[in-house]
Amino acid sequence: MFINSDSIIVDMADKGAKSLEDRLKLGFDCDALCSPEQKKAELRINKVNGMGAFLREDYASARRFFINAIPKASDKKEKEWLYRKVVECSSELFRVLMNSQAEDNAEEEFKRVCAGYEHLIKAFETPENYLDYMKFIGIEMNDKYEKNLFAEAIKIGQQALSRFPEDHRIYEEMYELYIYENEEEKSRECLDAIIRLKFDDADYILKNFGGALWRRTKNNPLLPISELLKYKGGAIYEYPEELYKYGKFTAEHIGNNEKLAVHLLNNAYCKKPRIPGLKEDLADAFDNAIKAMKDNNAPPKERLAFINMYRHVLEIKKALAEEEGDDEEEKARGKDFSKEIVVVTPKDIKQYLDQYVIGQEQAKRGMSVGYYMHLLRLKHQGEKNSKMDKSNILLLGPTGCGKTYMLQILAQMSKVPFVTFDTSKITSAGYVGNDAEDCLKSLVNAANGDIELAQRGIVYLDEADKIKAKPGYGKDVGGEGAQQQLLKLLEGSVVTVGGHNEKKFQIDTTNILFVVSGAFSYTEYGGSLGDRIKRREKVVGFRMQKEDEPKACKEDKKNIVAKLTDKDLHEYGFLPEFIGRLHYRIVLDSLTKPELRRILTEPGNAIIPQYENAFRLSGIRLNIKEDALDAIAEEAFALNAGARSLKTICDKIFEDGLFHLPGSNIKEYVVDRNEVMRYIKK
Ligand code: ADP
Repeated sequence: MFINSDSIIVDMADKGAKSLEDRLKLGFDCDALCSPEQKKAELRINKVNGMGAFLREDYASARRFFINAIPKASDKKEKEWLYRKVVECSSELFRVLMNSQAEDNAEEEFKRVCAGYEHLIKAFETPENYLDYMKFIGIEMNDKYEKNLFAEAIKIGQQALSRFPEDHRIYEEMYELYIYENEEEKSRECLDAIIRLKFDDADYILKNFGGALWRRTKNNPLLPISELLKYKGGAIYEYPEELYKYGKFTAEHIGNNEKLAVHLLNNAYCKKPRIPGLKEDLADAFDNAIKAMKDNNAPPKERLAFINMYRHVLEIKKALAEEEGDDEEEKARGKDFSKEIVVVTPKDIKQYLDQYVIGQEQAKRGMSVGYYMHLLRLKHQGEKNSKMDKSNILLLGPTGCGKTYMLQILAQMSKVPFVTFDTSKITSAGYVGNDAEDCLKSLVNAANGDIELAQRGIVYLDEADKIKAKPGYGKDVGGEGAQQQLLKLLEGSVVTVGGHNEKKFQIDTTNILFVVSGAFSYTEYGGSLGDRIKRREKVVGFRMQKEDEPKACKEDKKNIVAKLTDKDLHEYGFLPEFIGRLHYRIVLDSLTKPELRRILTEPGNAIIPQYENAFRLSGIRLNIKEDALDAIAEEAFALNAGARSLKTICDKIFEDGLFHLPGSNIKEYVVDRNEVMRYIKK
């Protein structure tokens, strides 16, 4: 036999069981006596009555009905709804009491609201319930009842975050609370967390935090947007649409950040040029940035970076002008600008090289000055009193130590075409093989047919140590003949290029930078050219390959450049006229083991981060241990082919992993010394 439990619960509740918990417990005890149908019916009655009372604004009764209904709730959802209704009733009661100035009673009621929330959270620990509680205690109390309880709200927030560290809404609430509390640093931390969690949702970030994201603070002069760009190794760059939104916002709202706007828009463009409106916005942002740069008298280095970028913005502008079918003037203005030669200081050049080229300090210095002179000459050519001889460069150094690389980087910096050319393949006219002029053909190709640009390019003449003249070998066609052919180019002359059936064009080599390069490791008299000088000058060094070279040896290398005479080069087998054209002589060192190791991870385009990226994009974390890097560097050092070996070794190690792991269940690939050795020994 079942009894009507409703009256009993209410009765018991009213008698002594004050806390919600006690009431529930009693409710539950009585429940056992109810049939399921009865429970259902009672639940319905309680809910209906509760809602009726609630609408009549009789919150105390409503609350009682809801409390009674809780033990009979048919599922979790229903139960949670009831709990929330109880809290709602309490807060309404609190409001009424506050409005009727019954502050003492209100205080009591306030505690009930809090207790209600705590029960709710205990039973249903969801981010939403935490958030409601935080909002009530924090902002709502402050706004409606002028009570500052931010510190309490923050405590609840911290608890919520420890449970839901990935919920951006909690950080959002905390962000505001900290601002109210004048905790600048903490509010920024919250903002950073929000960015971290939602960086790929530009609409959300800009709508809620647009201003804050571009505001510098006392403690952090960097714009928080730069955090966004760095997060997850620049993952945002994989989302061109979002980048576009950020870029557009920056361009429209933020003064003095024209460059940032261009950076964002340009990156979006490189990934996805077809986003509607992007081209126009990029072109406009670029104009604004250039104007700002002129107004502020920006240093050459900055202008250079922009001019390089301008070349492709110019293409965009042309395309836009063509689409609109007008604006010749605009095109002409852009063209002039893109051809501007910016003279960057030797220090800036060295700094640029430093980002990519490891070690080779002396050579980088020498190269910076040599390249600077080349730029000066380009810029001031034809001006009165500025006559400067054509300066080409001679590079000496073992294989794989960065000779070609250094020039590649300089070409990249100035955005001029760059080609390498194997001089050992040159044959005298009439023989089958390459003509020296062929390098100019490649250069024009590298400049996409733009002769004007090609005439400022860099030609890297490799294997030059192989074209020495060999006295006594009458029929030697390589050496001396090749030098004669090259001489014409090095001197600076107008050369007609093009074969029998090809289109012919003329190219002036006066402003082309020629770099003659070789290892010079073998001479007729045994040992390298460096060894020879070394013997003569009684210095040690040049081809030393010791891991930690004493400082004195480094000094000696510097000496070798100074001691390298025209006579040495002549005796080696170069024609005096040829030697006379090579003003800058730069010696590169063999790379040491620590340098090889640094090359793996440090330069702007280092190998290991590239592998990490490849694995990351396949959903795998590449965990490469320090001792693995040591082992790779040691092996490369032993192979004696400079940094070239690094790539070969890494390919060997990672090929298997890249073949087997993508698409498998494996989420992490750990590479340590043993793993490296396993592949090396294969
Ligand atoms: P070479 O001296 O024979 O011309 P390279 O310059 O072509 O050798 O070097 C081969 C590769 O090795 C380069 O593309 C570059 O990635 C790497 N490398 C060589 N030297 C260095 C260095 N000093 N710093 C960073 N990377 C280097």
